[in-house]
Amino acid sequence: MTINLDPQHLTPASSAPSVDLCHALSVDVEDYFQVSAFEGRVSRKTWETYECRVEANTDRMLSLFDQCQVRGTFFILGWVAERYPGLVSRIAQSGHEIASHGYWHRLVYDLTPEQFASDIADSVEAIHNACGIRATAYRAPSFSIVERSLWALDILAEQGFTTDSSIFPISGHDRYGMPGAKKEIHTLPTAHGDLVEFPPTASKIGGLTVPIGGGYFRLFPRQLTSAAITQHERLNRPAMFYIHPWEIDPHQPRIQGAGAKSRFRHYVGLARTEQKLRRLLQTHRFATMEEAIGR
Ligand SMILES: [Zn+2]
Repeated sequence: MTINLDPQHLTPASSAPSVDLCHALSVDVEDYFQVSAFEGRVSRKTWETYECRVEANTDRMLSLFDQCQVRGTFFILGWVAERYPGLVSRIAQSGHEIASHGYWHRLVYDLTPEQFASDIADSVEAIHNACGIRATAYRAPSFSIVERSLWALDILAEQGFTTDSSIFPISGHDRYGMPGAKKEIHTLPTAHGDLVEFPPTASKIGGLTVPIGGGYFRLFPRQLTSAAITQHERLNRPAMFYIHPWEIDPHQPRIQGAGAKSRFRHYVGLARTEQKLRRLLQTHRFATMEEAIGR
């Protein structure tokens, strides 16, 4: 497919966004060996044996965000919070929002409701022990709240969560996506009260679906992500951008034996991502998820 990258085509200058509009900047704090793409190669029992790079990479991100004077929401893996409590404190002290990414990075639809309840409770405890904050926002590993795991929402609300960002309203990905789900911020009623859902977002550009963040941000030219965000600005609607600390680390150790698709998804564009991220943060207004929602 050919995409027109002429800036005039991508960024119509007509309508300016509301002065209050901020997009959500979100970081899923996990290490390079904990991702779902390598789940089949890296047993959780062996996580302790890998060289940990999450602390240094997240610190680099904190410094970049500081330089760009932007605050974001950090969905922290409980395993990371338990081992690097100082990192969690530094994230909180820098004014960012503290949120949960579960404890073991297990796909929600692979768990029983009991296992899920225990995984998120463990993550909340680890994060609280690290910084004294009780997380009330959650993002599922690999956006794994889909049609068959919607039961998870009841459990989130039961455990005191008020905001979720796990339901990706797209189709065509083998691990996630709920094509019929709402694309804008909305309220989800559960058996234990309402949850606000801020879905990860995508735009249609020239017939191509452009999700905003992660591997898509590394793969596509920065201007394409920027155009996808601009589309939301024209609708006066905040977008959700997501990224991981390992995505700015081109020197991370390579995982041996992973399949071609997983290797491509994980390693494409690593060398350029930090610079692209800096430019993106200078181009659009970002804030924490709570601020982007307007609370
Ligand atoms: Zn993750």
